[in-house]
Amino acid sequence: MTLVFKKCSYAVTSRGLLRDVDIAVERGRVSGIGTGLGGGEEIDCQGLVALPGLANAHTHLSHMYAPPKTPAPTWERHHEDVPQREVAELALRLALIRALESGTTLVADTTAHPDLLQRIAGEVGVKVTPAVSWGMLSGWEGGVVLGGLEEAVEHSVEIRERAAGSQQALIFLHVANDRSQLYAAKTKYGRFPIELLNSLGLLTPRTILVNPGWASSWELRLVGEKRARVVYAPVADALTSSGGMLPVRELVSSNVATGLCSETPLIGQTLDMFDVTRAFLILQRELFWERDLTALGAMSIATRGGYSALSVEGGVIEEGSVADMVLVASELARFKGVDPERLLLSLSAANIVYVLVDGRVVLEPSRKEQLEAVKRYTLERLLDRLDPTRL
Ligand SMILES: [Zn+2]
Repeated sequence: MTLVFKKCSYAVTSRGLLRDVDIAVERGRVSGIGTGLGGGEEIDCQGLVALPGLANAHTHLSHMYAPPKTPAPTWERHHEDVPQREVAELALRLALIRALESGTTLVADTTAHPDLLQRIAGEVGVKVTPAVSWGMLSGWEGGVVLGGLEEAVEHSVEIRERAAGSQQALIFLHVANDRSQLYAAKTKYGRFPIELLNSLGLLTPRTILVNPGWASSWELRLVGEKRARVVYAPVADALTSSGGMLPVRELVSSNVATGLCSETPLIGQTLDMFDVTRAFLILQRELFWERDLTALGAMSIATRGGYSALSVEGGVIEEGSVADMVLVASELARFKGVDPERLLLSLSAANIVYVLVDGRVVLEPSRKEQLEAVKRYTLERLLDRLDPTRL
């Protein structure tokens, strides 16, 4: 069946920001963008802005409701906790619903329970790319996550073999997250972190560097030469006072696939990629004097950039593209000829009306109530498990 999103006030497409367009969706893909489209079920989208679905390109959702850490988690240790299966199941359900409600259509998650993640994501309606910690690898052919440089050095032979193997699974490496990691790498190995990875043959087209805020420009050039990818967590980076800041435009202009992410909820507690994208734009503008980075450019990194970093088709609205899409209400969208910057910066997850994944409507006003009930029920069960004062 064809779905036609009629008269979207604005649409962020591969041709730029279009005004007053219909978007037709058929068999999971965008089948037309234009005016006067019809021939299927029509949904009035006046006052709505259509965007590609957002990608959260690296997170640890099972930690969403973990008890506070003392001392506070560091980049070196942020991935270590492994919640029990029952707690993980409840946390994953809540976190994935929250991700969906904030317009995220693709999540790359680190989990000890990839089977649970895939099942629950299927029920909620979000796409996931699971990755497991290196220590839990046995028998798993999918993505893996390494916590730091030492782990990467220790397992460099196996990582290289995995990267050269036939599986397409990605290898996430937390690297150059803060100043102390640079010092440690220089002291222990005599090289800068990404320089070291390169010398070990670990910069590959399957490698995703997670949050390398302390990468130097010449190391980033190596990343580009080796066609590795990068995902960046501006909120978590700033909240840990890492002092690092990734020059993302430098990466994007050297064609490095670069996406944004929330990182672990232990640092940051947000899964809202609108928040992450806004923080990214503000920080890049302020710290790099990046006046040329527009809201549209930041949105493209959060959508197309994330999909591309994860090798998943989507993240763009154009004829023939996978129909992962978000429609958000905005008062400004009612005005003709509004400044695109003002319009895009006015968008908020709280005003999302529809979310589509593979052309299927997975969030709409009539489903919101049902999801609220699931969240309430799941939260109660989670509290019973985690909050001893309720026993
Ligand atoms: Zn992480």
